[in-house]
Amino acid sequence: PTTDETILSVKGLEVNFDGFKALRNLDFSLKQGELRFLIGPNGAGKTTLLDVICGKVKPSQGHVLFKDSIDLTKHQEHQIAQLGIGRKFQAPTVFSTLTVFENLALSMKQQRGLLSALWAKTTSEQRERLHLRLDMIGLQTKAKERAGSLSHGEKQWLEIGMLLMQEPDLLLLDEPAAGMTDSETEKTGELLHEIAANQTIIVVEHDMAFVRQFARMVTVLHEGTVLREGTMQEIQNDDKVAEVYLGR
Ligand code: ADP
Repeated sequence: PTTDETILSVKGLEVNFDGFKALRNLDFSLKQGELRFLIGPNGAGKTTLLDVICGKVKPSQGHVLFKDSIDLTKHQEHQIAQLGIGRKFQAPTVFSTLTVFENLALSMKQQRGLLSALWAKTTSEQRERLHLRLDMIGLQTKAKERAGSLSHGEKQWLEIGMLLMQEPDLLLLDEPAAGMTDSETEKTGELLHEIAANQTIIVVEHDMAFVRQFARMVTVLHEGTVLREGTMQEIQNDDKVAEVYLGR
């Protein structure tokens, strides 16, 4: 649930790609425990904003404060992951020859390196954590199946589960329901709300039906800056948003 504590505060962000301003004077902030949907037309800067937060892209101006005191623009991508920010891209990157359980176990222990993670014994406390996550992502009955045999939707859930094993405080998800069947999409929306009970999430989403069904708070980007921010209802009834985004 949303608390009063600000977990992320972006101020005056500017990103230049060869003279083209992908982000301009962008301000954005997020409370702990929020599930925030980031929408906007193609090229609005949504992916670039996530890229700046996770350290993949460096801004030419502005700062990104995480938990009040950490300026993420001063850290490298791998450090930011260790600070508790998990990024999931659209394409699933599970290890297809390992089982679902092994994939989860591996990401839980990956801090110590991939190879030692493969050999490290799993403690009973760790097994318990693994089973809790398996339940959460709905793959308890598939724990012993190879990840390669899962459906597209199940692979996406597994990957979200793998991110969660690293206990991030902030998750950045890029179109988590893309390519899913209707029932998988539904389950994904529910999963996001379940995760937001303990963690903060930013979701970049193009599927407006998904946004309408699952979003409460929405930020609309347009031409590299925030056009509007509000509840789904406010956004839906906003003329400016309709004009630039829905093409009305
Ligand atoms: P969105 O995710 O909202 O569709 P992006 O953040 O991907 O938008 O892109 C914002 C703008 O920046 C687009 O015009 C895009 O073409 C441009 N852009 C993104 N990445 C690069 C890059 N690496 N080099 C040059 N231009 C880029």
